[in-house]
Amino acid sequence: MYGLARCLTMHTNSPDAPNIHRRRLFSFFVTCLFIASLAPSFQSSEQPRKPPVKSAYDCAGKIRYSPIEGHWRIEQAIDDALKLLEKCESCRRMFSSDPQYAIDLLKRMRQDKVIIVSEAAPVLFKLSRDGKRLKVYESQTLGEAGAVTQDVADPKLKSPSGPMVYPCIYINPNEFIATDKPPVNSALYGLPPRTQRAVGILHELAHVARVIADDGQETEALRDISVASTNCVRRNCVTCEVFECPGAPKPPATRPKQKPKSNVVKDAGRARLSSPG
Ligand SMILES: [Zn+2]
Repeated sequence: MYGLARCLTMHTNSPDAPNIHRRRLFSFFVTCLFIASLAPSFQSSEQPRKPPVKSAYDCAGKIRYSPIEGHWRIEQAIDDALKLLEKCESCRRMFSSDPQYAIDLLKRMRQDKVIIVSEAAPVLFKLSRDGKRLKVYESQTLGEAGAVTQDVADPKLKSPSGPMVYPCIYINPNEFIATDKPPVNSALYGLPPRTQRAVGILHELAHVARVIADDGQETEALRDISVASTNCVRRNCVTCEVFECPGAPKPPATRPKQKPKSNVVKDAGRARLSSPG
């Protein structure tokens, strides 16, 4: 995706949510855009905080880390997501024909400490060869997004399809995965809060595995994709229905030449940050 960040759209419609929510969604979205326009870049002059833990590769550079009060909810959400994967074969199959794939992927990301709490995510960056240092040229606040996912790998290492190379999941400390604040008008409508958080984690994990389409909040079309993906995760992983997710990235018939997407910094990853997620 953007080398893109993907997010879980919060203001989404549930499969059975009435259309009446649409107008509220629109005004909510406009609010999001307004907030985003106020803070498109997260270049803080404050001293950045040290990451709370050492990760296997650097996901944040000097982006300011957030307080960690919500970490226990995130850990619980990961545990609950693993339980959903173990419960539903359809959920495991959504990720891969290998029934252990998604479970191992989520456990590895937790072990690598690349599921982090951050109010911002990088959009223009370059990861050092050893993966230890991410130089962030531009970042963006998560706004109303519950979380976003970004592949911080060099564009040359990225495949047009297939899983992300250096995936990072950024959990918004102010939204439903890290707090008790309910998601608004969401495809998560009607689910218990813990299940909502677990589905939120699985939505982001599906971006890592690239089994759902790239999404975002910049346009209504991108928001609709996010809604459809959340519904897909819900059906496969909560009600255990086999349900095909629309629009997962497909490999091109012929491999295109890879070009750096950034015209600012050679070989830097360029990400579009979307939002409500
Ligand atoms: Zn998404």
